[in-house]
Amino acid sequence: MRDTAGGVSEGGPWAGETDREVRGREFIFRLFSTLGFLLLVQLGRLNVNLGGKVDYPPLYALGGAYIAYTLAAYRYHGVLGNKRGLRLLTTVVDLSAICLAIYLCGGVESYTFLFLGMSPVIGSVYGELRGALLATFLGFLGYTVVVLADRSLPPGFDLAQALILRYGFLAGASILDIYLTDILMKDRRRLRLFYEISHSSSKSPALYNVMAEITHRMAEIMRAEIVLLLTRDENDASLVAQQPSPGLDYLVASRLRIPLGSESLLAKSFERGSPLLLTRRACREMELPMPLPVMRLLDLMACPLEARGKKIGLLVLANKLDRRGFSRRDMDILKLLAPHISVFLDNAILFRRSEEKVAQLTSLIRVVDAIHTTSSLDQLYNLAMDVIRALFAPDKALINLVDAQSGKLRTVRNLGYDQEYAERHLSHPFEPIAGCFVFKSGDYLICPDVKMEKRCPNMMVSEDIKSVLCVPIRSGTKLYGILHMASRFERAFDEEDAALAKAIGEQIGVAVERARLFEEISQLAVTDELTGLYNIRHLKRVLGEEVKRSLRYGRAFSFIMLDIDYFKIYNDQHGHLRGDEVLRILAGLLQQNVREVDTVFRYGGEEFSIIIPEVAKQEAMAMAERIRRMVQDYVFPFEEFQPGGNLTVSMGISGFPEDAEETEELIDRADRALYRAKLTGRNRVCLYDPSLDREAFHPHVPF
Ligand code: GH3
Ligand code: MG
Ligand code: MG
Repeated sequence: MRDTAGGVSEGGPWAGETDREVRGREFIFRLFSTLGFLLLVQLGRLNVNLGGKVDYPPLYALGGAYIAYTLAAYRYHGVLGNKRGLRLLTTVVDLSAICLAIYLCGGVESYTFLFLGMSPVIGSVYGELRGALLATFLGFLGYTVVVLADRSLPPGFDLAQALILRYGFLAGASILDIYLTDILMKDRRRLRLFYEISHSSSKSPALYNVMAEITHRMAEIMRAEIVLLLTRDENDASLVAQQPSPGLDYLVASRLRIPLGSESLLAKSFERGSPLLLTRRACREMELPMPLPVMRLLDLMACPLEARGKKIGLLVLANKLDRRGFSRRDMDILKLLAPHISVFLDNAILFRRSEEKVAQLTSLIRVVDAIHTTSSLDQLYNLAMDVIRALFAPDKALINLVDAQSGKLRTVRNLGYDQEYAERHLSHPFEPIAGCFVFKSGDYLICPDVKMEKRCPNMMVSEDIKSVLCVPIRSGTKLYGILHMASRFERAFDEEDAALAKAIGEQIGVAVERARLFEEISQLAVTDELTGLYNIRHLKRVLGEEVKRSLRYGRAFSFIMLDIDYFKIYNDQHGHLRGDEVLRILAGLLQQNVREVDTVFRYGGEEFSIIIPEVAKQEAMAMAERIRRMVQDYVFPFEEFQPGGNLTVSMGISGFPEDAEETEELIDRADRALYRAKLTGRNRVCLYDPSLDREAFHPHVPF
């Protein structure tokens, strides 16, 4: 039983046929069989015996009624076909008519003859052409045997005539059957191929496999030489050919691009959702999209693919000159298959999207994970670059961070740009960060075509960059830098890419913020809050390292202890706040007046220390003297009220390894020298010498 839905029959070996075709075939079948019967009866009149007692008038009436029924069935097929009850009635009428005809013809021979007449149909259904021929041959043989063996033939039975007549009928029936079966089998083959697409696309739903399967199977089903599956490229509103495309060169297929909204017939077919069949002449006149004009086509069919109310692609089939052309029937079949192909394709596209989403999420998780597990920013930049490369496949990429000191962008990772260019580009055009779109807006920037870019003053236009994506590297509202990607293709980045890149940018931002906070905290631990100099804790560490280095390389170094003279008086007179100010000023003065390799520390209170590497005591004396004079000359606020009208410092110097064997001793020796300086009048520098050990010394730190 056939089932019709929406004017199109589906399921079973008859699937792929339109109502019209089904109707036409049934009509021919009934008409031929009725006419065949009536012809036989007519021949019986002319003394050709049918082997039984023929009831002529009812047989004619039956023939007439059946032809009328055939015509009615043809005319009202739609009505009959849509109702199950009526369909059943049709079958009952067909069977009854055959049985009645057999009964009216009468005789064993007639039954056998009709039965054998059916055998090619059965043979053709199960064994196609060869089965039908074999069944016909067996029918001939069987019928001959029956006629020869039947002894109850009526008088006047003409054997030769009967054989010729029956053989003629059998041969005619067989030819008709074979013709009908051929149509049926062709559709069945097509259907089988089609089911193979469905099967393999559900087995391996990767988009590439499904597309390959669709194009190759469609080439086989439709006997087309060229099959192209064009899908919509969202980025630049065009149809692009997907690999592989049977009958087309790889390069030709990959270069094929049909802009939507153009005059191209294919673009129009896609946009309007209407199939296209171009026969020989129309095909010659049609302007084929580049690079197709290089070949001559005999004809072409195109069918838009739609899924979930969205146009997703266009299936194009074409033949070159040396092949038979497409018929309307091929077009009908293509139209029938198109919705199914659309579903396969849509599923594959959805599958790919979901895979992409999973890959994106995995990458994001990797970055987040790395942020929580690596303390090294270097490692994080590397990982972020790996992830960016894998996800967006940019031709060039930069991770630029704002340098905390200079306030300029600094490239911490560079992919694709040559280093010299990156530095030049960054130090000049990026210098005014205020002009940068991302910094101004705090939002991402998708630039589909750099030539048309107006928002970003830093955009560089070059041959090998067509589109750019920039996203902020931020944590909360604080911007730390920019993640920049560039592609040699136009419209390489879309909103989804931007959203993902932004998420990655935020994760890098969090890591940068954490690293900077960590740096600040550890910096705080070694510096003195009031003066910004290193504190005594750091002094011990640095001094220890300096001692080790000095021992290893055999180089001497010097150590200075410095104390402000009469500072208590200053504090008492002007208050601690002003005293603090003096400490800050002095710290700055000291730092400015030592070499880069020298390190100044606040030892505590109003005492400072200086480590002077690779300088022996005598030489350090000159440096200290210079510092002393400089302090003396500097005009501190309210210093005129100090004893002597000046704020001064005293210093003691010890040398390593001359005066001490380890750090504590070195500090102690410098302290002794300082004490000596205080005792001998202040505002002076004293070198340690062992004679000082004998002097009364009051080790009180601070003084
Ligand atoms: P001298 O060293 O020349 O013998 O005399 P002095 O007045 O400097 O004596 P001493 O070193 O004993 O006094 C240290 C004074 O430094 C005591 C205190 O008022 C002051 N002082 C110590 N630490 C600070 C500080 O952090 N801020 C301020 N404003 N004053 C401090
Ligand atoms: Mg003092
Ligand atoms: Mg002191």
